Amino acid sequence: MDETLHHRSLLSAIASDPSSTDELTIITKKVHAQYLANLEGELADYIPGLAKVAPDHYGIALGLPSGRVIAVGDAEIPFTIQSISKAYTYAMLLDMLGTDETAKVVGVQPSSDPFNTISLDARTHLPFNPMVNTGAIAVTGKLRSLLGANAFSKILEVFSNAAGRPLTFDENIYQSEQETGHRNRAIGHLLRAAHVFDEPVDEVLEIYFKQCSILVTAADLAVMGATLANLGKNPLTGKKVFGLDSVRHALSVMFTCGMYDGAGDWACKVGLPAKSGVGGGVLAVVNRQIGVGVFSPRLDSNGNSVRGQLTCARLAEDLGLHAFDSLNHGSSFLRGML
Ligand code: GLU
Repeated sequence: MDETLHHRSLLSAIASDPSSTDELTIITKKVHAQYLANLEGELADYIPGLAKVAPDHYGIALGLPSGRVIAVGDAEIPFTIQSISKAYTYAMLLDMLGTDETAKVVGVQPSSDPFNTISLDARTHLPFNPMVNTGAIAVTGKLRSLLGANAFSKILEVFSNAAGRPLTFDENIYQSEQETGHRNRAIGHLLRAAHVFDEPVDEVLEIYFKQCSILVTAADLAVMGATLANLGKNPLTGKKVFGLDSVRHALSVMFTCGMYDGAGDWACKVGLPAKSGVGGGVLAVVNRQIGVGVFSPRLDSNGNSVRGQLTCARLAEDLGLHAFDSLNHGSSFLRGML
């Protein structure tokens, strides 16, 4: 069997032979070594606090359905979750309202506008999708109206449940976003004017800036991804975090809209639902199999982590993770474990 074919059957092998996770560790280390010297890309600088982070960290983590986490490199260094939060607040809203009512707040249509565009879908007068700022702020506004003053602590609690440990947020990055987030405030006022929500804009933005400032590691992202892969149940703690419909819906939108203007290329090359953030995180989900978390803060012109994308593409290729890869062994991995 050639090496690639052998790797591609590895994920299914792990279900019957846990010792093969060591082989998965070796592959992950190899990918890390392959891209370690790649220092292309720039830090996000439109949030001053983000322009000051150490640029060269690089960590990869895989969250397995057994709850085991394979962590390589800087996988325990905390960074701000930024836009990756959008996928999880969306899943929260879906859980609270269901898909039909959520569709009255935000669409599911990919948009080719930049993530921070100040405009709505002209047909529906709603944000295009929850992965751009208009949609994410609409989701946060709706959570504020459903949860009141407790909205942020509830968000932190649900994110912590998905990560399997208590998370906190970075006060400095939060302040930095508060001081400079004028576009996001403009979006908040647009949404309020369009009656997408009726909450005080400053209060909604406070929650949104805090949710973006939640600190995670690549290992946390791997477990958060594994929670979605594992049908909404955290494989580390066994806790049910999201309902089945919410997971299916959130993963669908992550597949089509999760990687800013690089979403189409990503779907073809990597073929996984994913979300990136300008803090340098990339989270990818191999449905019913594993969660992948990568941290590397240097970004390309679309705002996606350069090494984050290379890492996911390499792992997808070597392990046959692409959703439409003929050698993706898919849900057989979890057979007997659900
Ligand atoms: N807090 C950032 C913003 O709203 C998130 C951006 C991102 O990660 O795309 O501008």
